Amino acid sequence: MNVPLLDLKAQYERIREEIEPAIREVIESQQFINGPAVGALEVAVAAYCGVEHAVGVSSGTDALLVSLMAEGIGPGDEVITSPYTFFATVGSIVRVGARPVFVDIDPVTFNLRADLIEQAVTPRTRAIIPVHLFGQLADMECIGQVAKAYRLVVIEDACQAIGAEHRGRRAGAWGHYGCFSFFPSKNLGGFGDGGMVTCREAARAEKVRLLRMHGMHPKYVHRLVGGNFRLDTLQAAVLLAKLRHLDEWTAARQRNAARYARLFRESGLLEREWVQLPVVKTDRHVFNQYVIRARRRDELVAHLRQHGIGCEIYYPIPLHLQECFRNLGYREGDFPEAERAARETLALPVYPELTDEQAVRVVSVIADFFSLN
Ligand SMILES: *Cc1c(COP(=O)(O)O)cnc(C)c1O
Repeated sequence: MNVPLLDLKAQYERIREEIEPAIREVIESQQFINGPAVGALEVAVAAYCGVEHAVGVSSGTDALLVSLMAEGIGPGDEVITSPYTFFATVGSIVRVGARPVFVDIDPVTFNLRADLIEQAVTPRTRAIIPVHLFGQLADMECIGQVAKAYRLVVIEDACQAIGAEHRGRRAGAWGHYGCFSFFPSKNLGGFGDGGMVTCREAARAEKVRLLRMHGMHPKYVHRLVGGNFRLDTLQAAVLLAKLRHLDEWTAARQRNAARYARLFRESGLLEREWVQLPVVKTDRHVFNQYVIRARRRDELVAHLRQHGIGCEIYYPIPLHLQECFRNLGYREGDFPEAERAARETLALPVYPELTDEQAVRVVSVIADFFSLN
């Protein structure tokens, strides 16, 4: 039995009757840019996240970039973030000309160590970008306090965390900006690229709205230098139809995580500490990824792949050790927990349609690797 890391065809089969008419409607209207579905999705996502404003953009990467641009962050500025994230978090900081300043991660949640942020603040610090990695909120209460004390902007990288929640507040509703991605493998994935910026304040949302259209308002009057950061109407129509299913998919991901926890407990792998499971420390973890730590990780990955089990390493090289950031002057050993996570973690299939049989198979192939079967 093969178990893929993600099975988007299984999802599509179940909702094609809802998606295809929505796509057809856009095609019939020929309103591919800023059509009504874009505004409708913005309203729906704002409500879903519990914020006043949301602006559709071209990708999660552009959501981060345009948020930094809206704050005028650039050369001479520093932005504090995690060295253990997808490249785009850090890439966007560098693209606006600012300097990323890393703080190590918490080994339990893989999110920024909020208690270390204050030590990294300098007179040049302008913003913090916490990442809600794998679908669990970072320690936003603590991050909010530091940001307030030093008047820093908080830009949440919520690309993996739509619907994640703690103490009644969702991802995107904590910071000044919330950045979301609709890349197909995210919990709410489009049929291509797409993204969203959520804001609690109207002025910030308006600036993002302006920047995504070359700073233009009214037509051919350019008040700022922005870019083409628009969300396609076709993607918005697909996402609107899919958003109606997001809660049921999230519940299925959470059930899959709970089932893995039971299967791993029964396998004996945990007592021997060959495997460590993800820890839920917030009220609603949405499990974009189910990431474990494992002994002999690289051999285990090879074993899983040999046996037709999809798995992936998120992420094998921490950002401070990437070749393109060598000029930042960081070295191996600077962020030991990020480096250890890069050596020890792997993601297992947790997509909503994963069956009981498939989950049993995944755990038994792992137990087999450690010769417990
Ligand atoms: C996916 C992702 C992004 C980038 O989103 P795109 O839509 O692919 O540009 C940024 N940050 C994190 C943490 C992500 O997972």
